[in-house]
This record gives sequence, structure tokens and C-alpha cells, in this order.
Amino acid sequence: MNVHPSPIVRHFDPFSIESNVRSYCRRMASTFRRALNAEVWDDEGRRYIDFLSACGALNYGHNHPALKAELLKYICGDGIATSMDLHTSAKRAFLAKFFGTVLLPRRLDYVIQFPGPTGTNAVEAALKLARKVTKRRDVVAFTNAFHGMSLGALAATGSRFARGGAGVPLSHVHRLPFACAGNDGVKVLHDYRDAVCDPSSGIEAPAAFIVETVQGEGGLTVAPYEWLRALESVARDLGALVIVDDVQAGCGRTGPFFSFERANIFPDIVCLAKSISGFGLPMAVVLIKPQFDRWRPAEHNGTFRGNNHAFVTATAALGLWENKKFQSDITTREQELWNWVDGIAADYPRFLEARGIGMMQGLRFADPHIAVEVADRAVRNGLLIELCGPHDEVLKLLPPLTIEQEVLEEGLYRLQDAIRACLSPARMGYRRYRLRRSEGSSRKRET
Ligand SMILES: *Cc1c(COP(=O)(O)O)cnc(C)c1O
Repeated sequence: MNVHPSPIVRHFDPFSIESNVRSYCRRMASTFRRALNAEVWDDEGRRYIDFLSACGALNYGHNHPALKAELLKYICGDGIATSMDLHTSAKRAFLAKFFGTVLLPRRLDYVIQFPGPTGTNAVEAALKLARKVTKRRDVVAFTNAFHGMSLGALAATGSRFARGGAGVPLSHVHRLPFACAGNDGVKVLHDYRDAVCDPSSGIEAPAAFIVETVQGEGGLTVAPYEWLRALESVARDLGALVIVDDVQAGCGRTGPFFSFERANIFPDIVCLAKSISGFGLPMAVVLIKPQFDRWRPAEHNGTFRGNNHAFVTATAALGLWENKKFQSDITTREQELWNWVDGIAADYPRFLEARGIGMMQGLRFADPHIAVEVADRAVRNGLLIELCGPHDEVLKLLPPLTIEQEVLEEGLYRLQDAIRACLSPARMGYRRYRLRRSEGSSRKRET
């Protein structure tokens, strides 16, 4: 019989009963207590700068005062907390604001589905609906994609490690290489279309293409807009839907509200989660072109589809976008980030490569071991930061969009210090790594 240590023992560490599955807390092992915008303090009063932003769930920083005020007012007025999909005034206000601030100015015609409140729920709903609408089973997903951990979304995810946890076959996904500067991404799409049209290719027509326009977990690879437009036209040719997974890249992370705006495409289904509530509260949204809204009532249910606290903060967050200064400040931060990332990559051309776009940028290291050392050292320097990419070789800079200039500079300084220490000539003398320009590199300013 397994006996748990008694919680009464003197030096019992409550975190020791947390499952082995925990991950981020291994590199960032402090116990965090409070936070404001991009600054976080732990139990000992130590101050950190947040370049992680809960993986993009805190685009407006921690405890944004405008969002917090609305939430406190709502709770103090005994506002409804959870409501499944009943009508509530909080949901009505969100829908009205989303329509007026996001859909109408962009002339986007979508209906809104609230799935369970996580990104993987939104992806499951999108995949189910695309299969239902087209009566086809296979979905095209791309190398290095990340779409979530539940089985349907995991089947579309690339990571062998994550897929290994499934325990059952992950099927009905056709994998194509993600847009890369090195391979001819557009040709790959055209060849695939030709194969599907060939009656003896053995390749079934797909229900949908699911794509991130910038791969968040996959290594901050940016899909060129010609490739995204080719993807849209190939999908149209094949009668398949285009699903943009904007869970991480959406809500302003790449600059505009949606990441696909720069490519001028019009996806059939869009998944949003992470920062849609704006406050870090669980919430997800699936946007569906009206002609594809073929759900029957209750066909995709979920108890927590009505997180009204999230609706309240989401409405307040969309309100921020009505302020031109809010948007121009983000553009300024983006440029500062861009200059720093390009600058440091130019300082170490053999070891570093600039990645990303907007407020999701990073550095790819020729040697993944050094990436780990830099991340660990940056955390010791008081920076919350993580790695991504197939070999955890890409340092990911994901500060809040609202980070103050001084705090951004301080964070970048702390990071620079970590990079300099790990790449100092004395230490690097014996290493002979050379950065092969990665195929995924497609970093150019698109204006
Ligand atoms: C985080 C993420 C998901 C999954 O969201 P969860 O809320 O963790 O389920 C799906 N797609 C992308 C692109 C993500 O970054």
C-alpha cells in the first residue's frame, strides 16, 4: 500500500504532492505572490520581470487596473459568476463589444461559439465542426504545430513528446511542412492539392487546414503572407475549411488584433483563448462563418462556457483597443523589441538568429544547451522566460503588450547579461557551433 507522508510532519512541502506533470515551475521555482503589469514579486519579496505572460494569456499584463475595476464592481454587485450558456448581461455586453470593436471595423462576418474555456477546447470544436460540415475525416496540420493537449487537438500537434502521452493512435491528420523560407512552401501546398485531385493518389480530400500564422510553441516561425494566401486558395480549391488557431498569436500579440490580418485572408473558423479574457481568466471563443454554423443545439456542450467574470474583463480589454494611443504604444514596444533582438543576433551571428514578429519575438540558439543555460541564468537574474522550438532552442520573449518602456529595457538588460555571460569569448573558445540559417527563418518586416 502506498502511504502519503502525513501533512503534519514538520518540513512538509505542499508542492511535493503535486504531480510529476508540472513543468514551468521547475525552471521558475519561486513561489509567486503578487504582480502588476510586467512585474511579479515572490514570497520573499524578490522582484521579477515577466517575459512569459502566462504563455500569452496575459497580453494586457497582470491585474490591469481598468479590467480589475470592472471585475471588482461586477463581483461587488453580486453579478452572476457562471451560467453555462444562459443569457447574462455580462455576455450580452461582451458580444456587443466584440461585434462593434473587432468584427464590424474589419467587416468580418462571424457567429461566436463559446466552447469550454481553454484553447484546446476551441480547437476541438473547430475540428469537429469542420469534419461535420464537409463530411470528411482528415485534417491538414503542419510540422511544429501546437494546437493543444486533448486528443483531437493533440492529433494536429507536431511534438513527438506531447503525442507520446496520448496512449491511443492519433489519426486523421495529414502533416505538411510549415511555411519555410528554405523549402518552397507554396509549391508544397500546390503539390498536395494536385495529389488530392489525382484519383489514384490514395490521399483523401481534407475537411480543413488548421494553421498558426506564427508558431508560438513551435519556435516563433512566421508564415509569409504569400504562403498563407496560397493556403487559403488551395483550401478553397479542395472544398476544405481554413481554421486559424489564433490562441497564442491573436489578441494583439503580433500587432493587429488577429494575427491573420497582415495576410489579408478570411479564415472560415478562428480559435481564440489565452488572452481573450484579458485578465488571465479562462475563456475561449470559436468564430465561425455563418454558413458553416451547422451545430445542432447542445451538440458541443460544456459546463464552463459561461465564465461571466471573464466576459466582464474581456469586454473591458476590448475597450482598450478603442484607444489609438494604446495601439501606437504597442507599435513602439514592438519596434524596441525588434531592434534589441536584431541587435543581439547581429552581435553573435554564429550563435543567434532573430525570430518572430510583433510582441512574440525570440532568439534561436545554434546550440540548444546554451539556450537552456541562458534561460536558467535569466531566471536567476530575475526574468521569467521560457524556451520553445523543436529542440527547446528558441528563447521566447513574450512580455505583456502593455509593458512600460523602462521595464522592457530592464528586462532586456537582464537577458543581455545572461546571453553575454553564456556566450562570452572565453567560454565559447572551445565551442565550434555554427548557426546554420534555419529553414524556418523568414524574419522580415512586413509593412
Ligand atoms: C496554448 C495553445 C493552445 C492550447 O490552449 P490551452 O488553453 O492550453 O488548451 C492551442 N493552440 C495554440 C496555438 C496555443 O498556443
